[in-house]
Amino acid sequence: MINKNYLKLPGSYLFATIGRKVKEFSEANPDKTIVRLGIGDVSLPMAPAVVAAMHEASDEIGKAIKGYPDYEGYEFLRTAIREHDFAARGIDIGIDEIFVNDGAKCDSADLGDIFSLDCKVAVCDPVYPVYVDSNALVGRAGDYVEEKQRWSNLIYMPCTASNGFAPEFPEETPDLIYLCFPNNPTGATITKSQLQEWVDYANKTGAVIIFDAAYEAYITETDVPHSIYECEGAKTCAIEMRSFSKNAGFTGTRLGYTVVPKELVRDDVSLNTLWLKHQEIKFNGVSYMVQKAGAAVYTPEGMAQTKEQVAYYMKNARTIRDGLADMGYTVSGGVNSPYVWLKTPGTMTSWEFFDYLLEKANVVGTPGSGFGPCGEGYFRLTGFGKYEDTLEALARIKRI
Ligand code: PLP
Repeated sequence: MINKNYLKLPGSYLFATIGRKVKEFSEANPDKTIVRLGIGDVSLPMAPAVVAAMHEASDEIGKAIKGYPDYEGYEFLRTAIREHDFAARGIDIGIDEIFVNDGAKCDSADLGDIFSLDCKVAVCDPVYPVYVDSNALVGRAGDYVEEKQRWSNLIYMPCTASNGFAPEFPEETPDLIYLCFPNNPTGATITKSQLQEWVDYANKTGAVIIFDAAYEAYITETDVPHSIYECEGAKTCAIEMRSFSKNAGFTGTRLGYTVVPKELVRDDVSLNTLWLKHQEIKFNGVSYMVQKAGAAVYTPEGMAQTKEQVAYYMKNARTIRDGLADMGYTVSGGVNSPYVWLKTPGTMTSWEFFDYLLEKANVVGTPGSGFGPCGEGYFRLTGFGKYEDTLEALARIKRI
């Protein structure tokens, strides 16, 4: 017998549909060059300091074998993470609360494993689809209701222009709350005091927040928290996920980490203990070379070089945001995030605008409705492309 929850997932995956449409258009119009601003993948080569560390680590394993790595990650990397990402911000996180992984995606899908299937899950709408789909696969999301484009057993927290793309406390109290700030896809952020309200809410209700800070490096404003642990009491209610993908170009190389504080206890059990058990059973660590490369991100050269890369993508995002605003589009994001979220013109749906941009400007973006029903009427463009391509895309959009 199979896990029939897999069959409940709605048929067409967003990026597969985009890929098919772009392929069909290119085949029908071989003379047209397409500019892709839909991707969430980085485009710059990895920083020299990171690559050098990977080379050096490869030489080392040619001299002495490095066998299975620690499940939690090598101590040298966890120490660097603790010092630079937390202690430097006045946050005390122990290295035994840090779990190195091969990117945030797996943990964002797998963290649900340590919670009861009876937990009620709340997600933002629009949302990074992995939180929803991973809960659907284990049956926690209920059934997909086509007319509503929503799962029957999930709590949706609409993030719209009217609430500044920030979720409000849901009517029904959830057990698990997925929050992602800076947000994919809207590019929105919440302030430290807004996040503190969520921490207080979770501590009061007993809910656990799974906080996705994959875009932390893109924060430019001072009142936006880099970590949920900047909020008082977060260690008793929150798990945080981080990624090396967007700050240091590890999308293909794969590296991230999750923080599960020891103080986070439910049913008299520390979730840290449960997560360690999970990793011991389901995960065999990240390679020495990749962890060495990750540690190099925290060296002075690594920090300077990766900061420059983030600045490059942010320049793109700002260029998109300002350029579209000048053309009269309603735009948000792009300030603390590589994502720009724009309102489609008039009554155009997200997919109508996708087709319009593809056909008339040969520019590819991502329809907001693909991230949830509240994304309808919106469109996501990203700053992850090349600067010249970004300028070209804007010039084309301006022409149409
Ligand atoms: N979380 C969010 C919100 C993302 O947008 C992404 C990737 O696009 C991830 C997690 C996954 O990151 P990683 O490459 O570390 O798996």
